[in-house]
This record gives sequence, structure tokens and C-alpha cells, in this order.
Amino acid sequence: MLFAHTPANGFSCWNPVLPQRPHGYHDVSFNDSREDIIPNRHRVRAPGPTSGNAGSIRLLGMTIHPIVVYGEPVLHRRAEPVAEFDSALHTLIDDMFETLAASKGVGLAAPQIGVGQQIFVYDADDEVAEVRRRGVFVNPVLVASKIEDVRPDPDTESEGCLSVPGLDFPIKRAHRVTVSGKDADGQPISLTVEGWFARIMQHEFDHLQGTLYVDKLDKRWSKKWKRAQEECGYDEPGISWMPGTDPDPFGH
Ligand SMILES: [Zn+2]
Repeated sequence: MLFAHTPANGFSCWNPVLPQRPHGYHDVSFNDSREDIIPNRHRVRAPGPTSGNAGSIRLLGMTIHPIVVYGEPVLHRRAEPVAEFDSALHTLIDDMFETLAASKGVGLAAPQIGVGQQIFVYDADDEVAEVRRRGVFVNPVLVASKIEDVRPDPDTESEGCLSVPGLDFPIKRAHRVTVSGKDADGQPISLTVEGWFARIMQHEFDHLQGTLYVDKLDKRWSKKWKRAQEECGYDEPGISWMPGTDPDPFGH
């Protein structure tokens, strides 16, 4: 997940050749020589748990994986529980942290790198508790407070997702959640958070259920999403982007 600090007015696809980019999107920092080798919308095979690291970049012992985009089947089905808390899991979690950092997001779920397992990582400030939280949940369950039945505020309640590059839409979320699950070693862990951090937890937990935030928008915003989805081409499998290599879809 990536929290959008800008209001959801209109939209911009991540693809730099599409016309919907906002003015200034070209100003993202990559140099000309690099621009020459950036594919406009490259297609890579999503890396599965047994498919090796095709399309990934290995850096200092950790691997940055391509992030798959809406339409990739692994994003739209329930992830499988992790059974083995072994070294392969540790490597996968390390890679997820590396990919999250390269993408400048605040949370990343395993299906977003093509791995259909119940794992998500997060790394962000908890503004309510005034601490930075960085961690992983394996096989999580989530208990949430009631969600207010009012319209979401585009200025303060807009979300973005690394798998829906360049777009953001407002959505109501529960104010307080408790997430329980396992850590990388299979030890039980639990976290109760409020506010913005609770939003991150809900967004990432939803990924493991095969649900993206754009699937849960209210009627008004859902219409805008459907239109953007069509124009951006976020409705077919096989699209991904590489954090740290491709132009940042959110302009960081
Ligand atoms: Zn997301």
C-alpha cells in the first residue's frame, strides 16, 4: 500500500506513454540514458515461489521483485497459509522488505510479487502511537472496529496501491484494528493500531483475501475507478513494474 497525500482528483496511469499523466509526471528523477531502456509497459512472468527470480534484480544479497498489476490472477484469489517457517520464507520476507523499500511504499503483500502466500510486510510511521513500525505478519487474522457509514473524504482518506500504479481513491476504513498472526519464525504476534496505521493493516490484510482497495470503493468512486481501469489497461494479466528501475508511478 501507498498512502496518497494528494486528493483524488482525476487520475494518472503509471505508464508514461499514456495521456492521462498529470502535468509534471515527466519530472520524476531518472536520467535520459536510463529512459532509453525503460520499456513502456513491459510484461514479465510473475515470479512464483518455484519459478526462480526471472525478472528480478538481485542487490547486496537481497532481491527486488517486479510488482504485478491489477488483473494478475494471483492478486485476485485468496492467498494460501504458510506451512513451513524455513529459510526460504526468511529469504522471501527479506526480499519483500527490499522490494517495499525500493517501491517507497508503506506495505507490501506477497501476492503483489506474484507469490500467493499469506504474508505481508510494513514499514511506516504510526502517527497515533508516535513510533515507526516495521514488521511482518504471516497467516494473519484481523479484527476491526465498525466502519462509519459516511462518504470518505478524498483529502484525508485516499489510498493508493503499488498494484494499481498511479491512481488513488478515497475509501472508508475501520479506525482501530487488531492483527494477530505469526512472525517469520512462526512465533505468535499481535498488534493493535489506530488511524492511518490501521488503514495500512486493513489494506494489506485485504490483499491476502484476494481483494484490492479498488474492489471496495463506494458507488461513486467505483465508477471513476472503472473508467480509469479501462484507460490504464489495468484489467489484464501480465503487467508488472520494477521498483527502483521504472519511473516511480506515484512520482516519488
Ligand atoms: Zn496494495
